[in-house]
Formats: sequence, structure tokens, C-alpha cells
Amino acid sequence: MSALQIQGLTARHGLLTAVRDLTLDIAAGEKVALVGANGAGKTTLLRTIAGVHPAFSGQVLLDGVDITATPAHKRAAAGIALVPEGRRLFADMSVAENLMVSRSARRSGPWNLDTVVEAFPQLKPKLKARAGELSGGQQQATAIGRALMLNPTILLLDEVSLGLSPLAVEGVYASLQALLAMRVTIVLVEQDLKRTFAVADRIVCMLEGGIVAEGRADQMSREQVMEYYFGNRAPSAKVGA
Ligand code: ATP
Repeated sequence: MSALQIQGLTARHGLLTAVRDLTLDIAAGEKVALVGANGAGKTTLLRTIAGVHPAFSGQVLLDGVDITATPAHKRAAAGIALVPEGRRLFADMSVAENLMVSRSARRSGPWNLDTVVEAFPQLKPKLKARAGELSGGQQQATAIGRALMLNPTILLLDEVSLGLSPLAVEGVYASLQALLAMRVTIVLVEQDLKRTFAVADRIVCMLEGGIVAEGRADQMSREQVMEYYFGNRAPSAKVGA
């Protein structure tokens, strides 16, 4: 059974349809990258899976259970964690407090304060510092750590390298490597195609709220993805499947 099933999902912002009748099955442990130009609907899709944006129609199923009407905090407790675009930390709270913030929704599993700090060693000297004082890379590490503290089975990563220096991106992805080896399912939005190909098992190209192509990362080229990215290819292709 798929870990996550998205069936005919439509999500709107007012009258604007951001995700359009989208269907996607994701297997347990699979790493899926959503690729597409600005406004393609990637962020809205992740937010709708996490339950912080409402579905207009269609379903989201977690391990076969329909969670479309389940509020976000209950989805978090059921195993879905979102690392939102822009990180959204509590700037006046310490790093440790930010990491502990979702304590009530925590599930049992390998992640706790110690293991998160082990995975993101740059946070160790900063645990008592205000999150607002951190560098971009440290803030992103905190945001990912906060999501991991839930011990999710599904981790949704929205543009974790946005606005970071190349060195900080390197640090964040080095820490993510440990995560990639685990069975956690990852749905990731990443503008950097090199990173995308390094991380993903499957690449899903989105345009105007729908899927225009998808395929195994090892059977797609960057050039193909770029063409779909800019909408230069005919839609509905399944690449290398
Ligand atoms: P980006 O890379 O820019 O984040 P995206 O692929 O993640 O793009 P979304 O952010 O999901 O796309 O946006 C999809 C569509 O929904 C766009 O047309 C965008 O302008 C619109 N949209 C997104 N957020 C809102 C909002 N809060 N209110 C109104 N429209 C929105």
C-alpha cells in the first residue's frame, strides 16, 4: 500500500486554482521531488498534504486512511511533518524551545533533542540562543530538526536551501544524508536541480497546478526536467517508467 495517496486533489486560493485535480501515489520510504516554475502549485500541494491549507476537492490518504478532513496537528501526530518555506521559527524563543515546540504531537522513534543535535552539530553551541539571531543555515537546521522531533513517517521539505549561502546549503544537505538512508518518506521542493537529482528517487514536474511529467530520477536528464519546467514539452509524459 502507498504511504501517501493524493487523489484528484484540487486546492484553491480564493478563486485561483493552485493545485488542479492532482493524483500522486508515494510509496513508503520513497523520496519524491516536486519540480516546477514559481506558481506551479508545489507549496500549496505540500501545505494541503500537511493540512495547513484546505483541500477544495479530492482526497489525501495516509497509509490508506482518508485524512482530508483531519486538522494539521492531528496529521502531525499521525506522522506528517512539514518544513515550511521560510522556516517560520519562533524568533524570540531559543533553539531548544523551537525544537521542543511540537512536544505534544511527538511520536516515539529515533529523533529526540540529542539525536537532532547529533545530526545538525551546528546547533549544539546555539541551543540557548534566540532563533532570530541565528544564521540562515542554522535556522534551516532548526526548522528541519523541529520537524524531525515529531518522528514523522512523511517529511515534507519546502525549499530548504532558499536564501542560504552555498556553504550553508552544503551543511543542511550533509545533515539530510543521514535522513535519506532512513525509511522516512520525503516529498521535497527544491529549486536546485543538482540537489534534486542527488536526493530524489522520483521527479514529478508540475505546471499550473497539475503534473506534466514524472519519472525515476536515474532515468531523467536535467535537460528534460528543464523543458517541463518551462512548459516546453507536451504534458502527461511518463519518463523512463
Ligand atoms: P513558488 O516556488 O513561488 O513557491 P509554487 O510552485 O510553490 O511556487 P504556490 O506557492 O503553491 O506555487 O502557488 C500556486 C499559485 O497560487 C500561484 O499562482 C500563487 O500566486 C497562488 N498563491 C499562492 N499562495 C497564495 C495566497 N496565499 N493567496 C493567493 N494566491 C496564492
